Amino acid sequence: MCLFCKIAKKEIASNIILEDEEFIAFHDINPKAPVHILAIPKQHVDSFDEADSLLMGKISKFIQNVASEVKIQKSGYRVITNIGENGGQEVKHLHFHVLGGAKLKWDHFSDADPQGHF
Ligand code: AMP
Ligand code: ZN
Repeated sequence: MCLFCKIAKKEIASNIILEDEEFIAFHDINPKAPVHILAIPKQHVDSFDEADSLLMGKISKFIQNVASEVKIQKSGYRVITNIGENGGQEVKHLHFHVLGGAKLKWDHFSDADPQGHF
């Protein structure tokens, strides 16, 4: 069973913010912003690339509720999901990073030439 499946089943402790039957949100153990929460489906899904529209619709609403719960909805926030090797996905269980609580940077994703691919 993967790490986030164990967190979803409470076999590994986490700092839970919001939970319903299908989803759970908890604090990232290594925060990259004043607010850094992970929102996941309890059911294992490998990544965004495997997610269907029903799941995406439901988790979108759940993430909005998480933002409201921690009071970053008005000030703004960022939702990120990393996919696979180049995406930087370390935990192979679909998760959305919900970041906020301060003005976030938007300047540097890669050392490769951003104009280089197409
Ligand atoms: P990613 O690189 O997108 O796969 O993100 C994985 C995230 O999970 C990282 O931001 C880690 O800090 C976080 N993480 C790893 N283990 C735990 C844990 N036990 N509890 C909470 N967050 C974790
Ligand atoms: Zn899993």
